[in-house]
Amino acid sequence: MPRPIQARIDLSALEHNLQAARRASGARIMAVIKAAAYGHGLLPAAEALGAADGFALLDLRDAIKLRDAGFRQTILLLEGFFTPDDLPPSVAHDFACVIHNAQQLAMLDSCPRRSALQVWLKINTGMNRLGFAPRDVPAAMEKLKRHTAVRDITLMTHFSHADEAAGVAAQLEVFDALAAPYRTARSLANSAALLRYPATHADWVRPGIMLYGASPFGPGGQPFGLKPAMTLQSRIISVREIAAGECIGYSGTFCAPAPMRAGVVACGYADGYPRHAPTGTPVLVEGQRSKTLGRVSMDMLSVDLSALPDACVGSSVTLWGEGLPVEEVAQAAGTISYELLCAVSGRVPLVY
Ligand SMILES: *Cc1c(COP(=O)(O)O)cnc(C)c1O
Repeated sequence: MPRPIQARIDLSALEHNLQAARRASGARIMAVIKAAAYGHGLLPAAEALGAADGFALLDLRDAIKLRDAGFRQTILLLEGFFTPDDLPPSVAHDFACVIHNAQQLAMLDSCPRRSALQVWLKINTGMNRLGFAPRDVPAAMEKLKRHTAVRDITLMTHFSHADEAAGVAAQLEVFDALAAPYRTARSLANSAALLRYPATHADWVRPGIMLYGASPFGPGGQPFGLKPAMTLQSRIISVREIAAGECIGYSGTFCAPAPMRAGVVACGYADGYPRHAPTGTPVLVEGQRSKTLGRVSMDMLSVDLSALPDACVGSSVTLWGEGLPVEEVAQAAGTISYELLCAVSGRVPLVY
């Protein structure tokens, strides 16, 4: 028997969540499938999201896999090309390339004339990660408009606080002012902006996390009718009685205040479960809520079975997913759903 851990992926949830995005916005949908579709598996996720108008990812090889699998939609490389060598395959497969810095703009000159490259010019409106400074945008636009290798241009930006109280107003104002002179298509919204700020929808929205059924706003918010697609599950492989005062796991960070029953689950940080999840992080054992005890180790973690007398070796454990939103586990572990989903490691079988 294989080790009992697996990530079950409900592909129909992806279709459902894509429709939720369609209901929320009339813009074209660029489904973000970076990081192996947030851990859900690149090609199966892309197939389930096949009604999207485009796909966005990072890796040229993954983009080629999509084209080879027959996807005809726009495929956007979110960090663009890294060296001039990336340009010919991008042109050959008709990928849209983000251009976010002056070096990429210069590399374009190595493109054969009439390459008909699609370019998404990224503007830094306040995130201060990728993108041209506002003062450099007009010159970059002039160069792109005249460039013989460029077929069309989309203007884009990315929000730093769309999921928080600060919102998008300041960045939206900068973007709108810069984009005003041009008749090009525009793209601004991630999932949070798509769900909360219709004024950002423009021509293309770029949802990621919501397609996988997690709210960009964390636990306890509006559910927006999203369906979680991934359930990470495993089983109890050992049960023991712990006497009062005994401690569990490395460094003994949890010591039993009273006699208790603990179960060991075949899931650890080498599977992608966060090592920093503290004692008390929620789990489900046979569908009943319980919590982790002590340090997460590489291949195992311990859970409290004191209130679950029927739990035994072989009992099923849900780390997140059906019945336990990944947002809630992420919050308990001091991180976000995104990190948990895309950290599920290669040794965990994805079962569709
Ligand atoms: C990852 C990413 C998105 C999707 O963000 P979500 O919060 O997952 O919706 C959109 N745009 C860019 C540029 C990204 O890098």
